[in-house]
Amino acid sequence: MLSTQQLIEFDREYLWHPYTSFTNPPVVFPVRRAEGVHIELADGKKLIDGMSSWWSVLHGYNHPVINKAITDQLNQVAHVMFAGFTHEPAAKLAKTLVEITPAGLNKVFFSDSGSVAVEVAMKMAIQYWYSQGQAQRTTFLSLKQGYHGDTFGAMSVCDPHSGMHHLFHQSLSHHLFAEVPACKFNEKFDERSFANFSQLLQRNRQKIAAVILEPIVQGAGGMHFYSPTFLLRVRELCNQLDVLLIADEIATGFGRTGKLFACEHANISPDIMCIGKALTGGYITLAATLCNDKVSNGISTGKNSVFMHGPTFMANPLACAAANASLELLMNTDWQSKVLNIEQQLKAELEPCRTLAAVADVRVLGAIGVVELKEPAKVAELQPQFVAQGIWVRPFGKWVYLMPPFIISEQELRKLTEGIYDVVSNIA
Ligand SMILES: *Cc1c(COP(=O)(O)O)cnc(C)c1O
Repeated sequence: MLSTQQLIEFDREYLWHPYTSFTNPPVVFPVRRAEGVHIELADGKKLIDGMSSWWSVLHGYNHPVINKAITDQLNQVAHVMFAGFTHEPAAKLAKTLVEITPAGLNKVFFSDSGSVAVEVAMKMAIQYWYSQGQAQRTTFLSLKQGYHGDTFGAMSVCDPHSGMHHLFHQSLSHHLFAEVPACKFNEKFDERSFANFSQLLQRNRQKIAAVILEPIVQGAGGMHFYSPTFLLRVRELCNQLDVLLIADEIATGFGRTGKLFACEHANISPDIMCIGKALTGGYITLAATLCNDKVSNGISTGKNSVFMHGPTFMANPLACAAANASLELLMNTDWQSKVLNIEQQLKAELEPCRTLAAVADVRVLGAIGVVELKEPAKVAELQPQFVAQGIWVRPFGKWVYLMPPFIISEQELRKLTEGIYDVVSNIA
């Protein structure tokens, strides 16, 4: 076993962490174990998790039910290729996903990560139009401040400027970007906020394969919550002009925004939907792309009836077993009340941050609380302060945010909100 000292040394020497440099290595905290909402460091210090390991941990760490589902599956078969074989964990999960996602989404394509689920969605849209004899429709219309992942297709529909990928701009396909929906979640809808999107879609309809957006909550691109009416207008116009709609629910899915899927805020169903992150309750990487009959039939009856994608670890049985257990836990609890309670507490307890000098805005939706700073957060400075408070909060850009596991108690959540207030009030 490595000593903590060795672990840190090996990490420094050999490991790349997300969005980091080797010449200016990030401070990393060695984790020994985790249970419930607590992440335990090598020195024994326990942190309350405010991040759900990036939107994914719903029921807490080391959950006995999910642990058992994985070990049971491990004793049957850990992995088997999905070409020519099928298995119960995948079949069961696909049926559940079709039942709980918006009406009409009837077919499920599994992949390993959110970014790949987005690639698959984009390929589905392009192949659909190819099959309809409209191979020129390869452009996507997306929203500014959007985030859809780190692979090439996904990068090409992320915000081209404020996004993290502008340095790759020259090597990406060029798509269209509508203005950020200016109308906020709780505001009365102003039809003028739809004008730019509407104009772009109408002008370019002949070449657009699909609209791709994050419904209601723009996550990593700005933590922006926009009006459900905007989403409704998008669906209506896509219907009218016969353009496909892809909803990227990778961050918003599985109750995070107060609805099981964010599309439900506008009562709409997309043609294609991407899910990932919380799908396995934060246990194992797994993602899926769902589509409706129009897309699946359109592709399958076309010139090239075979959908051209197939990851090696497609529908991994361990991941599907974890997802089945996580979804059973979610659907058999009153998660709506849990999320509502978290929402009310976040609203009450983050609101005082608004008066702090460094703070530009405070907003909450479902189990997502955001304190927007006036300047980008200095993560390297803030992170140790959060850890000293016994909480795990990882700011990103101008956003200090919370999206705790749904099982968090009132006292534990209070530690997170008080910790944020204390640390943010020290920002000069
Ligand atoms: C995280 C995220 C992705 C990418 O998922 P990965 O699993 O990190 O590849 C795509 N879209 C949205 C909205 C996300 O939040």
